[in-house]
Amino acid sequence: MLIDTHAHLDYPDFSEDLDEVIGRAVDAGVARIITIGTGIASSRRAVELAEKYQEVYAAVGIHPTNVQHEVEDFLPKLRELAEHPKVAAIGETGLDYHHLPSGELQSSPAISALQAEVPQDAQAAIMDGAYKVAQAEAFRVQLDLALALELNVVIHQRDAWEDTLAILKPYTGRVSGVFHCFGNLPEQAMEVIALGHLVSFTGTITFKNATLVRETAIKIPEDSFMVETDCPYLAPVPHRGKRCEPAYTRLVAEQIAQEREVPLEIIARQTTATAEKFFRFDSVRLT
Ligand SMILES: [Zn+2]
Repeated sequence: MLIDTHAHLDYPDFSEDLDEVIGRAVDAGVARIITIGTGIASSRRAVELAEKYQEVYAAVGIHPTNVQHEVEDFLPKLRELAEHPKVAAIGETGLDYHHLPSGELQSSPAISALQAEVPQDAQAAIMDGAYKVAQAEAFRVQLDLALALELNVVIHQRDAWEDTLAILKPYTGRVSGVFHCFGNLPEQAMEVIALGHLVSFTGTITFKNATLVRETAIKIPEDSFMVETDCPYLAPVPHRGKRCEPAYTRLVAEQIAQEREVPLEIIARQTTATAEKFFRFDSVRLT
């Protein structure tokens, strides 16, 4: 048995054939799927899918790149959703500095010409600062919610490693996070694992150039990682570039088994046990 710990089943990519998609997952041994919310509307859809499908559980949260498009006071709505019995985590939340507003500023001279009184580097610093502060606040609010509801968090981190760890540190030992779609260095994986967090691997581990991801998967302890698809994105080889779906969790687990030189059953058992603990299937939510 495998658990796809990160899927986006509420995305329109699955609106036509979700019954079949879930059927194929079950046939591939993927007995549970955590569908991840990326905003209030998406989180609500995630909870509805968890109500509809026995195999599906939800995580509810505001993705860092959606923070500035969300209603300002999202917390009451998120809390209400998070109290649903099939909500297994808060997230995805975290920090993403990959596309900063200043990047767009430089590429649109019309805007910067309008604001010519303010030097462009000052404008950039102000815009990027506001963007980062908004993400940081939303991340903290969601960590507090997780703490209050005794849930763990699904963390999206991109180009923001230091700040993510700085925000997370005060919660050490109280809230655990999974650094999903792990693509940083093996040493960085060890760093967060030492703080009580987990990492999870997607189909990127099957990509030809993903040497460091495979190295990470070999080096880290057996109880420190989970498997996921991040579908509809990041389909593993041989489906790379096509729509990804939860059944492909098996291909991710097979790649890890090959790297660690153990049978697939071992990886399945270990990652499932880790996921059951992280998402608290061991307590109230086990059905
Ligand atoms: Zn995601």
